[in-house]
Amino acid sequence: MFKRPRPTYDVTVGAVTPLTSTLLRITFTGPDLAGLVIEHPTQWVKLAIPEGASRAYTIRHHRPADHETDIDIVLHGNGPLARWAATARPGDRARLAGPRGRHPDFDGAAHVLLAADESALPAALTILEQLRPDVEVSAYFEIATADDTLPLPDRPGITATWLPRSTGPGTYGHPKGCLLTETLLATDIPPGTIAWLAGESTGIATVRRHLLTDWSLPRDHVHAKGYWKHGEADHKG
Ligand SMILES: Cc1cc2nc3c(=O)[nH]c(=O)nc-3n(C[C@H](O)[C@H](O)[C@H](O)COP(=O)(O)OP(=O)(O)OC[C@H]3O[C@@H](n4cnc5c(N)ncnc54)[C@H](O)[C@@H]3O)c2cc1C
Repeated sequence: MFKRPRPTYDVTVGAVTPLTSTLLRITFTGPDLAGLVIEHPTQWVKLAIPEGASRAYTIRHHRPADHETDIDIVLHGNGPLARWAATARPGDRARLAGPRGRHPDFDGAAHVLLAADESALPAALTILEQLRPDVEVSAYFEIATADDTLPLPDRPGITATWLPRSTGPGTYGHPKGCLLTETLLATDIPPGTIAWLAGESTGIATVRRHLLTDWSLPRDHVHAKGYWKHGEADHKG
């Protein structure tokens, strides 16, 4: 089907800020960003680098009046975008196209279940920052080590479980995605739950099926997206 081209925005790396051992914040700048309109949580853009590759990344913060946008990038070391980010310096050029992404609907939720690995943590945090304050949230975040947690928004009713793949030097590290999947398969789901899940594609698909079949959540109460897939470059979730 014909896809309408998205507006593009020429940007420059303004700042590079390590957030955790695996997440790097790149602050992009450029006058074009005054025209980028971000209206709801989890919106994303295609980030294109001069070498030609482009991949999907969440808009973590957008400050149009300052012509600035933050994108938090996982340094997994294995693809063109992760490699570009690891060596990005102020002044480097890139292009954003978008924004894209549906508004995840949490209307009527008695309880929200959020599940994410590092690649989806930026999007999950945009949800947490904008959810109604009276809704209870259970959040499960898979991270590399126990030192890789991030501050959560100061709001009541969040129960956060951080799931470090490695528990210390020399210890067995769980393969990416497994801990999140196993934890969610063993978690009770309260009535009235609306779930948002994103991360490694196979694990997310397994948890989605589990919520639909074993917990009988309605389809429109499970927002699930594979953000990347083991062994597959440029996975389209
Ligand atoms: C809507 C949406 C929003 C997203 N938002 C973000 C975001 O804010 N931050 C972010 O970091 N990512 C985000 N992602 C995921 C990102 O687009 C992918 O991780 C992408 O594959 C990275 O491109 P790459 O060039 O580094 O690797 P690719 O060339 O796509 O893949 C190369 C290899 O690396 C592996 N790989 C890819 N991603 C990961 C990973 N995270 N961990 C381990 N191995 C990996 C692949 O399995 C493949 O074997 C988002 C994805 C979607 C669909």
